[in-house]
Amino acid sequence: MKILVLNSGSSSLKYQLFDMTNESVLAKGIVERIGIPGSLIRHTRGTNDVIVRKAEVADHTVAIRVVLDLLLEREISVLTSLDELAAVGHRVVHGGEKNAASTIVTNEVVREIEACSYLAPLHNPANLMGIRSIQKVLPNVTNVAVFDTAFHQTMPAKAYIYGIPYRYYEEDKIRSYCFHGTSHYYVANRTAELLGKPIQSLRIITCHLGNGSSITAVQGGKSIDCSLGMGTTKGLIMGTRCGDIDASVVLYLMEKEGSVAKVSDILHKQSGLLGVSGVSSDLRDVEAAADSGNERARLACDILCTAIKKYIGSFTALMGGVDAISFTAGIGENSDRIRRESLRGLEFLGIRLDHAINDGLRGREAIISTEDSPVKILIVPTNEEVVIARDTEQLACTR
Ligand code: ADP
Repeated sequence: MKILVLNSGSSSLKYQLFDMTNESVLAKGIVERIGIPGSLIRHTRGTNDVIVRKAEVADHTVAIRVVLDLLLEREISVLTSLDELAAVGHRVVHGGEKNAASTIVTNEVVREIEACSYLAPLHNPANLMGIRSIQKVLPNVTNVAVFDTAFHQTMPAKAYIYGIPYRYYEEDKIRSYCFHGTSHYYVANRTAELLGKPIQSLRIITCHLGNGSSITAVQGGKSIDCSLGMGTTKGLIMGTRCGDIDASVVLYLMEKEGSVAKVSDILHKQSGLLGVSGVSSDLRDVEAAADSGNERARLACDILCTAIKKYIGSFTALMGGVDAISFTAGIGENSDRIRRESLRGLEFLGIRLDHAINDGLRGREAIISTEDSPVKILIVPTNEEVVIARDTEQLACTR
């Protein structure tokens, strides 16, 4: 069975074609600058053939056509006919409270995704463009929506209700939803597999550290709390997002800057590693600057590691202990320094990093705790696409 996975952004479309007989990726790529002059397509077949093409891609429907043509193109084809495509899985950022699991896209599901758009204005409308374009180009194919918020729908009310008047939850659905759910789900389950234990028996803390970051407490396979919130600024300091701040800071900025748009820009795009270091939102640049003596760059790294440590501590308390801590995404998979500094001093909780394994290790699955460490520490490269492909296959088969 062949499954196409789409991650549709406002001006980009990422895709992967899976052969589900062995979960291999037949082709993948990205269409960039959709609707902007000079669109670019990067397409990889299998593991090596990389094709880069320029084309004018006016909208997402054209982008889908370009992708399907590439999948069928003679010499590089990975499909003989579009009939081979069993279903299409879509990453959808916000599923609101109604979608606690992946679902086949119906008119009602489209309406629900639309209804959540005010909670994810940068993402849901773009995700919908991908769904609508497929419906136009391949009207008979089954579409499945896989939500970033779904995995966190198991959080109890005491984790997701904010301490503001309850009517804002009742009237406006103001609450914590949390994101990166597909990644946390994958990493937690893979952690259990690598440890050879049933996930139901484990308390796992999954640290998804990328440009956007979040930490989740996964108890018995279920998310019980997460560092993100209603939007994408809470929790850890991120590339350009502020992380946990006092609401008073927001009020002060509103007084001083005078507009929601300006303050939103500050908190989403000018803060985080970039805002503190003044160097870059990219951790590699910030680490390099810290190494050459830049104090603010060092401070930015310290703030990140302190926040990771605090969440590990609080989630350990919440679960009454922790069995495994897993690191994933660009920073989690690659930065031995951030892993080391955030775990430093947590030995009293039974968290013992094996420095000889951790130092210099990047980008591959590994257990990086010492043999005698009661808490296992792992690197688990995330794979959200395979989760989307699996859910899509399962739902398409049961249709
Ligand atoms: P996104 O949230 O956009 O998917 P990624 O998961 O790709 O982000 O993570 C991007 C982050 O990972 C950047 O801050 C980048 O600096 C960091 N990163 C990638 N490789 C390394 C590395 N070798 N060392 C340190 N940080 C790295």
